[in-house]
Amino acid sequence: MVKKKSLKGLGARYGIKLRKQYTKIHFQMKSKRACPDCGSQKFGRESVGIWRCKKCGIKIAGTAYDIQL
Ligand SMILES: [Zn+2]
Repeated sequence: MVKKKSLKGLGARYGIKLRKQYTKIHFQMKSKRACPDCGSQKFGRESVGIWRCKKCGIKIAGTAYDIQL
């Protein structure tokens, strides 16, 4: 069986722009950021729209993918 290198499927359906956007957002989401309160790197997304610092416990409401509103 020959595997076809498919640019159809997901790619065609959503388009390159959106995929690029997703990659950017994904990267943003995964990237480490410092806690705005204590500066610890243990700051991350707890759930959609909520960011929490594991060190000082501060909770910040942000967007789904970033703390910048
Ligand atoms: Zn903190």
